[in-house]
Amino acid sequence: MTRPFATEDFRRRMARASRQAADAGLSGLLVTPGPDLLYFTGYAPIAITERITLLAIATEREPAMIVPILERSDAEICPAADAIAFSDWTDGDDPYAATAALMDPDGRYAISDSAWAMHVLGLQAALPESSYVSMTTALPMLRAVKDADEIERLTAAGAAADACLEELVGVRFAGRRETEIAADLAALLRKHGHSQVDFTVVGSGPNGANPHHEMGERMIEEGDMVVLDFGGIKDGYGSDTTRTVHVGPPTEEEREVFEIVRRAQQAGFDAVRPGVACQEIDRAARKVIADAGYGEYFIHRVGHGIGTTTHEPPYMIEGEEHPIEPGMCFSIEPGIYLPGRFGVRIEDIVVATEDGGLRLNNTDRGMRIVS
Ligand code: ZN
Ligand code: ZN
Ligand code: ZN
Repeated sequence: MTRPFATEDFRRRMARASRQAADAGLSGLLVTPGPDLLYFTGYAPIAITERITLLAIATEREPAMIVPILERSDAEICPAADAIAFSDWTDGDDPYAATAALMDPDGRYAISDSAWAMHVLGLQAALPESSYVSMTTALPMLRAVKDADEIERLTAAGAAADACLEELVGVRFAGRRETEIAADLAALLRKHGHSQVDFTVVGSGPNGANPHHEMGERMIEEGDMVVLDFGGIKDGYGSDTTRTVHVGPPTEEEREVFEIVRRAQQAGFDAVRPGVACQEIDRAARKVIADAGYGEYFIHRVGHGIGTTTHEPPYMIEGEEHPIEPGMCFSIEPGIYLPGRFGVRIEDIVVATEDGGLRLNNTDRGMRIVS
C-alpha cells in the first residue's frame, strides 16, 4: 500500500521551492489551482470557479493561502494544512486587495501557468509595482526531481499502463475503427486504476505517420501498422507509453523501420546518466535514426517529463542543457513517420538513478503481431 503524502512532505517541497525562487532572484511563488497546488498541498479544488484561490510561498514567511470563504473548510483539511496560514475573502470584497496582503508590494513572483489571466491582471492592478513571470519559464525544474514516494506512484502507473497493453494486444484490430480501439484503451486504463484518461492515440496505417493524430473513424485493416500511445493519471501520478503493433505479417521494410526505432529508443535509454545534459538523450536516439537515413522523418523531441501531469519539464530536446539528476522521470519516445504510409513510435517512462536509467514500462519492445 502506498504511503499517503504527509504534512512533512509538503513542507519540504514548499521550503525547497522558496529556496529555488530566492536563487532565481524572485520574491516567491504564487500557486493557483492545478498541478502546482496539488504538488505543494495535496489540495485540488474544483477549478471551474472564477473565485481566486492562491498559495503564496516566500522565503522567511510561513506559506499562506487565501481562499473564498465558502471553500475554506475544504482547504483547511488538505494534507498540507498544518504547514499553511489560511485567510479568506467573501463575495463583495475585493479579492485582489485581500490577496495582495500576502505579497510584497514590489515583489517579483513566479506564478502558476494555470493561473487565470483575470487573476494575474487583478493582482497587477492591486499592486502596480509587482511583477510576474511564468512558473514553468522561471523555475522549470521545480517539480522535476521526484522523491521516493512519487517514484513509487509513477512506477505503479507505468505497470498499470503495461497491463492495459497486454490486454489490448489480445483484442481484434482488423475490421474495427480506431475510435473503438481507443475506447477499449480508455476502459482498460480505468480498469487498471486510472482516475483520469489523458490520451488514447490509435494511429493506424497512414494515420500513424501523423504524430498529432489521436484517433478517427478509419477502419483498421490487415497489413496496418498501428501506433498505440496512451496514458493518464493513477493515484495522482501519470502514465504514458507507446507501442506499435502490426495487423498480420509485416513487410521487410516495416520490420526494418521498426528495428531502427527500437534501436534508437535503446540508445536514448543507454545515454541516461546523472550529469548528462537532457539534450544528449535526444541526440543519442536521433543519431540512430539519422544514421539509418530516416532523420527527416523523426519530427519531434525525444521526450518530456512526467509527474502530477503527463507532460512537464524536463524536456529531452536539443538545446536543453540542464543536467539529468537522480529522481527525474521522463519519456524516451523516438519515432519514424513516413507520410501517407505508416509510423512507428516506441515510448517508455524512465527514471534516472545514480547508476543510469530505470524503465517504468516493461512490455515487449519488439513488434507485436495482432489479428
Ligand atoms: Zn503492414
Ligand atoms: Zn505518449
Ligand atoms: Zn509521451
